[in-house]
Amino acid sequence: MTTSEITYQLLQEQLAQEHGALASELRLEMQLNTLVPSAEAIKNADLSELITMAKSSFIPNLFDMAVRMEKVDAAVCSIKLGMYGLCVDCEEEIEMEDLQADPAQPRCRACRIHSRYHHA
Ligand SMILES: [Zn+2]
Repeated sequence: MTTSEITYQLLQEQLAQEHGALASELRLEMQLNTLVPSAEAIKNADLSELITMAKSSFIPNLFDMAVRMEKVDAAVCSIKLGMYGLCVDCEEEIEMEDLQADPAQPRCRACRIHSRYHHA
């Protein structure tokens, strides 16, 4: 195994862990919150439903958590597809330092600058 393969593997493990932790944290926070439909609905909701509910709650803390969850979930999906570490826009490899700073980073530097410029 090369060093970068090992690094990728570590990053993926880190992501899987964050994914699990976030998912249970998000569910718990939702349950603690009386604004959401009902405890039963939250218990039975799948992750994407949970994210949607948290985002539409307009509670800043829950909203941020849901946004992060979405990002981490997308990264975990890309692992399953064998696309992890590749930019979602141009499919080039994402800079290793950026992945180490945030394992859920979906875009390479060039595309991030590009999208900031266009959606500012
Ligand atoms: Zn790119």
